[in-house]
Amino acid sequence: MHDSWVVKKKTSDAALPLVSRPGESSVVWVRDIPIGGEKAVVMAGPCSVESREQVTETAIAVKAAGAAVLRGGAYKPRTSPYDFQGLGVEGLMLLREAGDHTGMPVVTEVMSEEDVEIVADHADMLQVGARNMQNFALLRKIAKTRRPILLKRGPSATVKEWLAAAEYILHGGNESVVLCERGIKSFDNSLRNTLDLAAVALVKEMTQLPVIVDPSHATGKRSIIGKCARAALAVGADGVIVEVHPRPEEAWSDGAQSLTFAGFTEMMSDLTAPLAGVLNGG
Ligand code: PEP
Ligand code: MN
Repeated sequence: MHDSWVVKKKTSDAALPLVSRPGESSVVWVRDIPIGGEKAVVMAGPCSVESREQVTETAIAVKAAGAAVLRGGAYKPRTSPYDFQGLGVEGLMLLREAGDHTGMPVVTEVMSEEDVEIVADHADMLQVGARNMQNFALLRKIAKTRRPILLKRGPSATVKEWLAAAEYILHGGNESVVLCERGIKSFDNSLRNTLDLAAVALVKEMTQLPVIVDPSHATGKRSIIGKCARAALAVGADGVIVEVHPRPEEAWSDGAQSLTFAGFTEMMSDLTAPLAGVLNGG
């Protein structure tokens, strides 16, 4: 059944030939937006699509502040089955509408193999969520779409496992993969996760694929997201993805880490501010 996936010869554990071409620096296009090119890309939007008003209002605000890609979840991987699970197809349609209204491509998560087609019909980029990074059947299925993929790092995944997951997608025929560091588990629970910026710098030396950072899920804490976004670009990330909500205190998911419109605008101006003047005598 999966003939093309039958490995006839055992390769060495270290061999990930398709993703290990750091000299090549690939650019992944999300419609008209290049990721991995000269300029960093900001993706922004609500954690979950909740209503037409909420996603449209957010799209207009983030676009005005300089975001290039609209994010929004329609299928939500929630820790508890009693939490809001996303609007599903209705959410996909509302996200598409808001993207078209503001002229932004849209990225959204696909959680299950059976939803790949419908999500690919509505979205410009497919997100593989952290919890699904090693869902190999899903990776094989999305490899067959012609959509670019945003591959989040699993909360407990090593760099090698993360790159091996990307290798599945390239091996399946889809070269358009953007990696996303979104925080990992560590001994420290002061924050939601531990943002592994060293891994970002490392992975940039190991692969040609663009790498972006999600400081929202990495920290879970609104007040430090802008600072972590700056740090991400400083270590060489090709962009950031952040959560924004018109009224974070009313958000159906991830309110504590959602930026207000004003907070997002401030983050954007801080990102474009030069780092000059930080060195003594500089
Ligand atoms: C998300 O982007 O809303 C999300 C659930 O991300 P992660 O898979 O990184 O937890
Ligand atoms: Mn979220």
